[in-house]
Formats: sequence, structure tokens, C-alpha cells
Amino acid sequence: MEVRLLEATPDPEELICRGARNDYMSEFNPDLSFEETMASVDGETMEEKKRTLIGHLMQHGHFGPFEHPSATFAIKGVSRACMAQITRHRHVSFDVQSMRYVSFDDVDPERVAEGEMVVTPPSASDPNWVGRNQKGGAVDEETIAKREEVFRQSVKRSVEDYQELLDLGMPPEDARFVLPIGSKVNIVMSMNARMLMHVADMRAAADAQWEIREMTEEILDLAAEWCPVTFDYYEEKMRNRKNRLAP
Ligand SMILES: Cc1cc2nc3c(=O)[nH]c(=O)nc-3n(C[C@H](O)[C@H](O)[C@H](O)COP(=O)(O)OP(=O)(O)OC[C@H]3O[C@@H](n4cnc5c(N)ncnc54)[C@H](O)[C@@H]3O)c2cc1C
Repeated sequence: MEVRLLEATPDPEELICRGARNDYMSEFNPDLSFEETMASVDGETMEEKKRTLIGHLMQHGHFGPFEHPSATFAIKGVSRACMAQITRHRHVSFDVQSMRYVSFDDVDPERVAEGEMVVTPPSASDPNWVGRNQKGGAVDEETIAKREEVFRQSVKRSVEDYQELLDLGMPPEDARFVLPIGSKVNIVMSMNARMLMHVADMRAAADAQWEIREMTEEILDLAAEWCPVTFDYYEEKMRNRKNRLAP
């Protein structure tokens, strides 16, 4: 998979602070400079003042100001199983690559068996991988070799069947019904900083599936560059606690 930041609100933390300070000042905020807006906040430098105010908001559960800045991420090559999970979040906006308008008629089924077009889960080849709801634990080399063979043959065969159905004149929107849920998809998604923390609460957690967890970890890394004070605080003080952002 690949995760990139496509677009994001510039100066997100100035926006968060302006939003929050608005609540406690009589002046109309746009008439003030950022220095004037932050004048009464503790701290020697603007960086310290931001840390003071943002830390205070996070600590007291004043999450509204974090809804102002938003970021758009482009995700390449996650499974449609992962897509089904992330698209459950109703305050995230999505564009999802279509299987009605994009057909996979020129994909070589041999290459599908090698990992093209369909995500290969680590449990297909790692004998020590233990996932949720798994019967038993680690397996021996013979079992994992068989498991990998069944997986690779199955995805290859379904792409062969898909292409045969296309050759028989079936529209891609119907032929896709035989494709695996592991088929790769590209997604563009936008969310505000509050929602990003909520998604991370649920999807970077230990009980989330490995793929959506990996995707969310990468999103969190990009968020920490985009909105550093907020996501440093989140990482240090809030991550891995019970979900509190949107009870
Ligand atoms: C480990 C894990 C396993 C899961 N397993 C399943 C499963 O087996 N089957 C399944 O169907 N789903 C499953 N889910 C999905 C889960 O139930 C949620 O639908 C999904 O995570 C979206 O999160 P959310 O409920 O916080 O809502 P979001 O859409 O992310 O909304 C954010 C917050 O807004 C508020 N909100 C949004 N809409 C409403 C509303 N209509 N009414 C009241 N409050 C609202 C809530 O406070 C919510 O937490 C699973 C999720 C996880 C993390």
C-alpha cells in the first residue's frame, strides 16, 4: 500500500487556536493578528503558546476547534475488505476507484498469483502469524506452504473467471462479482483533525485488522508532519486509551 497527503489546510494549528480563542474573546477574531489572538496564552514563544492552548483543549475534551482543519489522503492498493472497514466512518468523505468503469481485462492471472491486483495477507505465508478468530495458532512449514498455494491459486482462478466472463460479453460491473474481496483499490479520503483522531482511536488500535492498522499508522505519520502539536499530544497522551473523542 501507499499513503500520501494530497492536500491539507495550511497552518492548521493557527486555525485551531483562532477557533478556540474566539470562544473566549469579545473582539471579532479576524480583526486580530495571530500574536494578538494568542497574547493571553502562557508561553515564551508562539510554539509554546500553541502547545499550551492545544494541550488544554485536548486535556479538557474541547474537540470542536479540531474540526476546522482537514486533510485529504490518497491511498493506493488496499484491499476492498479494508475499504469496507474505513468507509464505515460517516464523517470521512471518500472517492473510491470504480470496478464498474475500471476493468481488469489486461491483468495477467499469473501475476495475480504473485501479488498483483489482490492483497496477499501475511497469514498466507507466515507460519507464525496469529490473527483474530483463527483456529489454532502457529502452523508448520507444510501447512503454510499448502495455505499459500490455495490462496494464490484461488485469486488467480477468480481473475481468470472474471476475464472469461468479460470475453463472454458480461459487463465489468457484473463480472466483478467473482473477484476476491482482497482486490486492490485506490481511495481518496478527506477528514478533519478531530475525525482523524477518532479513526486512529478505532483503527490504529490493537484489535483492528493489520491492514487498516498499517494504513492508519501511515496516516498518523503524515498527520504528525501536517499538524505537529496536536498529533504529538495525541501520540503521547491519548493514543491507545479507550475511545473518548466521540463517545
Ligand atoms: C475492531 C472493530 C470491529 C468491528 N466489527 C464490526 C462488525 O463486525 N460489524 C459491523 O457492522 N461493524 C463493525 N465495526 C464497525 C463499527 O461498528 C463502526 O461502525 C465503525 O467503526 C464506525 O465508527 P463509529 O461508530 O465511531 O462511527 P463514525 O461514523 O466514525 O462516527 C463518529 C462518531 O459520530 C457519532 N455518530 C455518527 N453517526 C451517528 C449516529 N447515526 N447516531 C449517533 N451517533 C453517531 C458517534 O459518536 C461516532 O462514534 C467494527 C469496528 C472495529 C474498530
